[in-house]
Amino acid sequence: MSIQPWPTTNWPKGVSREIADFEHPLFSFLDDAARDYPDNVYTIFNGGTRTFAQVKQAADRVANFLAASGIKKGDRVAIFLPNLPHYPEIYFGILKAGAVCVTCNPLYTPSELNYQLKDSGSKVVFCMDHPQFYPTTVQAIQETGVETVVICNVKAFLPPVKRILGALLNKIPKAESHEPGHVMYDEIMASYPAQAPDVEINPSEDLALIIYTGGTTGVPKGAALTHANFVFDVKAMDEWVYLSQEPGAPPEKIRKGGFHCYIGVLPWYHSFGMTMCMLTSCASGSRLICVPDPRAGNPPFTEVLKLVQTYRPTILVGVPTIFSAFENHPLLDKYDLSSLICCASGGAPLPVELAKNFEAKTGSIIFEGYGLSETSPVITGNPSDKDLRLFGSVGFPVSNTDIKIVDSETGITVLPQGEDGEIAVNGPQVMKGYWQKPDADKEVFREIDGKRYFLTGDIGHIDENGYILITDRKKDLILVGGFNCYPREVEEVLFQHPKVAQAAVVGVPDPRSGEAVKAYVQLREGMTATEQEILDFCKEKLAGYKRPRAIEFRDALPTSPVGKVLRRVLKEEAKQK
Ligand code: AMP
Repeated sequence: MSIQPWPTTNWPKGVSREIADFEHPLFSFLDDAARDYPDNVYTIFNGGTRTFAQVKQAADRVANFLAASGIKKGDRVAIFLPNLPHYPEIYFGILKAGAVCVTCNPLYTPSELNYQLKDSGSKVVFCMDHPQFYPTTVQAIQETGVETVVICNVKAFLPPVKRILGALLNKIPKAESHEPGHVMYDEIMASYPAQAPDVEINPSEDLALIIYTGGTTGVPKGAALTHANFVFDVKAMDEWVYLSQEPGAPPEKIRKGGFHCYIGVLPWYHSFGMTMCMLTSCASGSRLICVPDPRAGNPPFTEVLKLVQTYRPTILVGVPTIFSAFENHPLLDKYDLSSLICCASGGAPLPVELAKNFEAKTGSIIFEGYGLSETSPVITGNPSDKDLRLFGSVGFPVSNTDIKIVDSETGITVLPQGEDGEIAVNGPQVMKGYWQKPDADKEVFREIDGKRYFLTGDIGHIDENGYILITDRKKDLILVGGFNCYPREVEEVLFQHPKVAQAAVVGVPDPRSGEAVKAYVQLREGMTATEQEILDFCKEKLAGYKRPRAIEFRDALPTSPVGKVLRRVLKEEAKQK
């Protein structure tokens, strides 16, 4: 069973359904923005701003520096930074040098970073003059091919008073304290001309990014993605944002740039934040608020609310825990969030109750989409017409993209509509393959009807109207005495309980049924509940084998740096108990 892209409803004249033109280098978004709206603000951080012309100039300097340091086409260069205004400058600079950008999780320990630098064969790493980043980098580059470390600092972005105080108190580390051979970003900006080298890019062949993902097995693998992979997905998202405009938003202004403002709470090292915040804002000449907290899943939320009130972003892209943090915030109604006209959720299932509560409390509209690091990332989205959204569904495939539901044993037999199976995707955003892991490629690619499909590892089905519904991850299935129980269904029920803020469900070993259902619950602030109360609630709504045997209350649930609730951590803890 395969279905067609988004329905044509609400499709304004002059906007193509098929995206034809995506054979471009990824950095052309920045060059085009700097040409078309040079004075529009791109990045906003700590009160300071940078225009598209300034960011392009900085990127050209970075590219010049890399070329002068011997970086050639196809060499790998790593970024180990939180969401700072330097990020897009460095990112586009690396691409302009013809190199491949390796983005690293800002929470990595030295050994995790070391693995990624070694595996990718990175030669340069960009980090930050900060106790969390610089020492980690110095340790991590041991026994790797890294020859140069570039150190950024945020001094230029600090308000003058903080800069002077910081210097007096010696809180801002000094450039001189670094090793010989390590280069300060500010020096690059001061000494290298803004002239990117002339490198020819073949967009559908040449790699732009290696993004590491846990994948379905434990060892992180690098998803190797081309320029065209990302250009396609960014164009599809830009078009979608354009189509989802509120009535009254001036279409001409949106097209010309400068209307929208994105709040960058998702980390940009991950493809979701990269595409949906850092790149889509650039493609449309929009502003981008840099929120550098590396724990994007757990940001200081009062700060985020203040940023929304001050800079009036129109678009918020997040994982469900971010929407939950908004929805649960005790001071939510003290802040003016009226600027938010379009919110997009992805990365994990968005519980229906959470979506409804978020909309009711903020007056905004939330759309759910779905994707993976291996697919740049977006492959499906709810229709841009808000009346056609289906809560609990991830919508339809984006343009040029085909989705099939296949049997999860072989990954080849295509299943009929309505039947649950593994989601397989073919489209211009699907990665070339895993970086130097041909065996891993064999596991995830299948040929169906002469085309190459990527097996996502997610189970789902297509309903009678063509909407795609994700049941769960293949590996999260809980087998209770031979019955299939998907954690998501139980979590949706828990979210309906008025006292529950967050919930995660895992399978734990059980001597009688093999596995049993266990729920971890975080209550709303100031609320109390007993285990029995929650169990009774589930009893009314779930068949016996799906009901949790135990409820464990937690102050917070473990989340990934992107903010996804980590069921596997809870499962591991339960197993060890
Ligand atoms: P990552 O590679 O970190 O982007 O993770 C991709 C995985 O996130 C997918 O394989 C899905 O399991 C999950 N995911 C992404 N979006 C959604 C969604 N809207 N609903 C359910 N799961 C999702």
